Amino acid sequence: MPQIDLRTTVLLSAVMSALMSVVLLSAYYSFPRSIKGIGRWVSGSLLLIVTPVLFWLRDIAPDWLSIVVANCLVMAAMALWMLAVQAFYGRPQTWRCAAALTVLGTLLLAWYAFGQPNYVARVTIATFVVGIFYCVQCVVIVRYGERHFSTYFFGTLMIAQTLVVLLRFGTSLFAGMTGQSFFAPGDAIQIIYLSSNTLMDLALSAAFMLVITRRLHVELDVLSRTDPLTLLLNRRALYAAGQEALEGMAEDGAEMALLLIDLDHFKRINDSMGHAEGDRVLTAFSSMLRRELPPGAYPGRFGGEEFLVLLPRTGMTGALALAERLRATSSRFFGERVADLTISIGVACLEKSETRLDDAIGRADLALYRAKSAGRNRVEAVMQAA
Ligand code: GH3
Ligand code: MG
Ligand code: MG
Repeated sequence: MPQIDLRTTVLLSAVMSALMSVVLLSAYYSFPRSIKGIGRWVSGSLLLIVTPVLFWLRDIAPDWLSIVVANCLVMAAMALWMLAVQAFYGRPQTWRCAAALTVLGTLLLAWYAFGQPNYVARVTIATFVVGIFYCVQCVVIVRYGERHFSTYFFGTLMIAQTLVVLLRFGTSLFAGMTGQSFFAPGDAIQIIYLSSNTLMDLALSAAFMLVITRRLHVELDVLSRTDPLTLLLNRRALYAAGQEALEGMAEDGAEMALLLIDLDHFKRINDSMGHAEGDRVLTAFSSMLRRELPPGAYPGRFGGEEFLVLLPRTGMTGALALAERLRATSSRFFGERVADLTISIGVACLEKSETRLDDAIGRADLALYRAKSAGRNRVEAVMQAA
């Protein structure tokens, strides 16, 4: 077995943690607060800058510092990482259990350092507590992680590190240990354990950075596609969804219908009941739309009090029937809330030869104009120009 200087290895992990802490701290200050757990992970990483230095001081500094305090801080750091993972995946954070295990572990370590000095018992206790914290993280990642490369990377590293910690725990508990001190030369398991810890301080933080960045990407993507008031698709997302559906249609020759819906005399609601009530009506209407539409439909806010619904794989007959049902449901729905609010709907259908959404939206707009001119609370359609 090639000799590795374990003291240097341990000290290296302080440098790794310091580097990753800088990266994670900048993420903590710049990422939105909706992404939870970053602060706790950074706190854990900051502790992991101190602990290797304390371990490095073994036999140089007093035992209470290099054994008791060092191990206590490692357990606290791992507890913080566990709480970070729980928070990030929206799971309840087991603060009390984490604190209780850390305190209990520290007391037992102090006993086996001064009351009845026993190095193997100390390793068993420390790896047991840390092992539990790692196991919880593995379970949370496997159960609640998104099916994405970032999760696979984070999960794989976490499981690997957990196995190494459990290996150290198992060998200390059942098989006896060859080395009788922290930096004992020739103890293969201890070399694997310390090297893995050093590497994983960096690798796990890098992987956590990857999963939070992925989450940021997903959140920004959703924000860029969502209308903030109604939470329906915004205009840009509607065009993107329509274009994607059109490409699908080109392959299998299906039809697609559009409904352009406008709330009648909506200005009166704002004028008589206030803008805030107007907003509530728009939100309530959007929820009703989501409820009433068939699966596969794309409802979106086209602008102001106008809504566009894309209906892939729907022909004119089906679209007209759906539009009429929506109109009837709306009069009932609004009748209960806002007297006399109705909707007008313009319907158009994209034919197989059409490749542009704009032309069909133009026809739906013309149909809507006709519905308004004919007295509102109506459904009108415009067929494709020959
Ligand atoms: P019509 O039947 O011809 O469609 O009449 P209308 O009053 O609905 O249409 P008009 O275009 O005259 O007015 C639309 C109103 O919708 C005016 C605008 O203040 C209101 N509006 C647009 N966006 C919002 C919004 O986000 N919140 C609220 N409360 N009102 C909005
Ligand atoms: Mg209107
Ligand atoms: Mg309008």
